[in-house]
Amino acid sequence: MRKALVCGAGGFIGSHLVKRLKQDGYWVRGADLKRPEFAETAADEFRLLDLRQEEKCVAALTVPDGSFDEVYQLAADMGGMGFIESSECEIMHNSALINIHMIHSAARMGVNRYFFSSSACVYRDMRPDEPELSEEEAYPAHPHNEYGWEKLYAERMAQAYGRNQGLVVRIARFQNSFGPEGTWRGGREKAPAAICRKLAEARDGGTIEVWGDGSAMRAFTYIDDMVDGICLLMDSNCGEPLNIGRREYVSVNDLVRIVTEVAGKTIKIKHVEGPVGVRARNFRVDKIETLGWKSKVSLEEGIRRTYPWILEQVQKARI
Ligand code: NAD
Repeated sequence: MRKALVCGAGGFIGSHLVKRLKQDGYWVRGADLKRPEFAETAADEFRLLDLRQEEKCVAALTVPDGSFDEVYQLAADMGGMGFIESSECEIMHNSALINIHMIHSAARMGVNRYFFSSSACVYRDMRPDEPELSEEEAYPAHPHNEYGWEKLYAERMAQAYGRNQGLVVRIARFQNSFGPEGTWRGGREKAPAAICRKLAEARDGGTIEVWGDGSAMRAFTYIDDMVDGICLLMDSNCGEPLNIGRREYVSVNDLVRIVTEVAGKTIKIKHVEGPVGVRARNFRVDKIETLGWKSKVSLEEGIRRTYPWILEQVQKARI
């Protein structure tokens, strides 16, 4: 039985990944500062650990018989654009420490394969009509925010350990991901969850606030597609960072329209000042597609699966 450690298993993508690895027959240990908020973990074992500390990384990686076959590093101090733009020091300090100590300890402790979760934020800002960027076009580097710079540094560090310390390293650059059991309030939520929450809270005929003028272009990838991509990439022989994301670009206004239709409400939009991030960031996914990956869930279908879950959370929170 293959053994996997999922770092960040209390978070959105990590908790879904744990479920998949269990279905695929792994023995799984989750590690995180917190347990999953919305459902019991599917992991065989869950350790509450602050992975900024090297000794806690060692504790996460210690197993009685040998070492982990696979480590999935998804732990990060992380959030939507509001958090990314207001917490630059926390992101750069905390996520860098986690990445530095985890890969170093994994290499030292004989881990076979190591997955690192990078981000589309490593790319520069784009005009909405520009052709999609390939993986190589992350250089010359000009990420729009410090979160992207930290990811780029961590990618390079993982690759250096791959070249020099015998670790098989796989790196994915995720497009925005969304789905049930993700953060939906509190300041760290991303656009799809935030818009679903605003619609769920609004009365029919009411008004919701949207940051910026709504013209920023985005792509959103449903969680099941993202997890498919992670597993395919981990099993592949691809040593370079690979983009994972759905090729369906919409403006924030389009996203609001889709959520509004799913919610079945009539709503007015008030555009307000707020952290909107880049104008557009579109990347190519032909490389992950050559591994056999294909996004199966459209944005609208993903919202149909996510909105009822967020509505339920909103209703529970009112009680
Ligand atoms: P998340 O915030 O839901 O999960 C991250 C987890 O890391 C959290 O549970 C958090 O408690 C944990 N963590 C933070 N600091 C820690 C510490 N010191 N020790 C142990 N655990 C710690 O985020 P997510 O959406 O599941 O993202 C997972 C990974 O994917 C992150 O690396 C993120 O940067 C990357 N990513 C996500 C998206 C997305 O749209 N969700 C997009 C691009 C990249």
